[in-house]
Amino acid sequence: MLYSTLVETYERLEATTKRLEMTDILAGLLGAAEPEELEKVIYLTQGKIHPDWTGEPEIGMAERMAVDTIARASGLKKDEVETILAERGDIGLAAEQALNAKRQAMLGGKRFTVSDIYGILDLIAKESGKGSSGRKVDRLVRAMVNVSPVGARYLARTVVGALRLGVGDMTILDALALAYTGSTGNRGLLERAYNLTSDLGYVSRVLAEEGLQALGELHVVIGKPIRMMLAQRLSTPEETIEKLGTCSAEYKLDGERFQIHKKGGAVQIFSRRLENITRMYPDAVAMTLDHVNAEEAILEGEAVAIDPETGEMKPFQTLMQRRRKYRIEEMMEKFPIAVFLFECLYADGEDLTLEPYTIRRARLGEIVEENDRFKLVRAIETSEASDLVDFFEEAITDGTEGLVVKSTADESIYRAGARSWLWVKLKASYQSKMVEPVDLVVVGAFHGRGRRAGSYGALLMAAYDPDEEMFRTVCKVGSGFTDEDLVKLPEMLEGDQRDGKHPRVDSLIEAEVWFNPSLVMEILGDEITLSPVHTCAFNELREKSGLAIRFPRFLRLREDKSAEDTTVVDEIVDMYRAQTKTM
Ligand code: ATP
Repeated sequence: MLYSTLVETYERLEATTKRLEMTDILAGLLGAAEPEELEKVIYLTQGKIHPDWTGEPEIGMAERMAVDTIARASGLKKDEVETILAERGDIGLAAEQALNAKRQAMLGGKRFTVSDIYGILDLIAKESGKGSSGRKVDRLVRAMVNVSPVGARYLARTVVGALRLGVGDMTILDALALAYTGSTGNRGLLERAYNLTSDLGYVSRVLAEEGLQALGELHVVIGKPIRMMLAQRLSTPEETIEKLGTCSAEYKLDGERFQIHKKGGAVQIFSRRLENITRMYPDAVAMTLDHVNAEEAILEGEAVAIDPETGEMKPFQTLMQRRRKYRIEEMMEKFPIAVFLFECLYADGEDLTLEPYTIRRARLGEIVEENDRFKLVRAIETSEASDLVDFFEEAITDGTEGLVVKSTADESIYRAGARSWLWVKLKASYQSKMVEPVDLVVVGAFHGRGRRAGSYGALLMAAYDPDEEMFRTVCKVGSGFTDEDLVKLPEMLEGDQRDGKHPRVDSLIEAEVWFNPSLVMEILGDEITLSPVHTCAFNELREKSGLAIRFPRFLRLREDKSAEDTTVVDEIVDMYRAQTKTM
């Protein structure tokens, strides 16, 4: 394919902003390319010569150097080119105008192919060391005089990294589907292949050379980053359990996501944005080699800066000191890290991306030899909101951001590239709008399980409504209790236990044990929200909704207070209003 064909397509792409039209234009181009040139056409159209994550040098030429090239290719003086550039404000248009002005000075064959241009750009990218600037300019001059002035427009933009045709990855996938399968309806299959390899060129080559079926059977490839699965967000453990059912809750560490690819003695690390960050983390590379018991593996985890003495986690900003090109060893000594692993996507020939969570996690456990600095992230399996509340509390105490709660259902595959409901994050920072604790009275309880067997898992708490002399529920509290508190709770409440709900208690929730409203506790939550299950201020702010306290935790007993001394419903309404005003 001639470079001029590419250039004509670019002009047409630039003339439209309609996605469907772009797809058609692009499909025409991609369909016309030879299979072995297709990859190059795609990378060039993206304004690069290979995917960003390869770690290979990109062109990234300074504008000054492009000006030198244009001057030499056109025969104009450098300051003449600079004047044109100042007028046009775009290196591409400047190149085009300059070359138009001095057509006669050109050697101009105009027959360079896409592969010729790609080859030159690749060599330019790889030039380094002494005299490399001169060699880069020489090469680019040769390219520029062998394309049309319009060709020079796009070439100049490409070398300075400013091509920007506005063609997104999804448009390229649509165009490929259209060109090679006759319909954009097959985009899904192409998209999965792309999500697994992050390489549109590779996907296009498999499709063009081996067909749609081969593409559908594509597996992950070591060295090609898998587009990362992301989490949805919910605000409460209850909603989370409702959404996921049985799940595994993991600490949400506040560091940098690593996708680690190991092949024998070679390790590569990719960031959340799929940059190749291997060079910045020689310690993580060494730990992978020492602690991963598989020839080949793709793992994911979160790297966190730690205090090596105490093992305590440091804030995200500390870790970011490691994100640098120079003085890497020094920074490594100064800011050591720990890697907390949570995914095994591939191990010794086995692509695990379509396996459920439990299998992936088990495989991770098998191949990782843990130590303090390289280990599996803490997790618990549960289907109880109260367990999530406790574990969340522990997570926060341990200096993490909260939890990532993951489905363990049969269909809990690794959804590459998706923000999926199979993962739900619960973060502390969404809350903390509620600054003042409230005093609430215990009206019911739920039995504890596991570690809490014999005590209560959660208490149903109410505020007082003096107008109607009723106690209206506002939350279930299960966190903040010490082990000692937990032992004492049943004793303390025993005397107030009763059959059925107290007549002055207004509750839509069916407690397992009911009490006379008597024991008062100081409770701090993160936020007050509308809730259909609590009766505090029911129907007052919204029909069929009351108010609830989110993420409530026990602070202390208020044995000096009686049930009627608790915070009243109107105060909670005021707190809710004050909080929504500041949001
Ligand atoms: P956030 O700012 O909350 O990290 P995000 O958009 O970057 O949001 P999300 O998908 O919402 O990413 O949250 C998942 C991120 O949390 C992951 O990208 C990862 O870096 C981090 N993380 C920490 N611990 C875990 C874990 N146990 N499992 C998955 N991701 C985790």
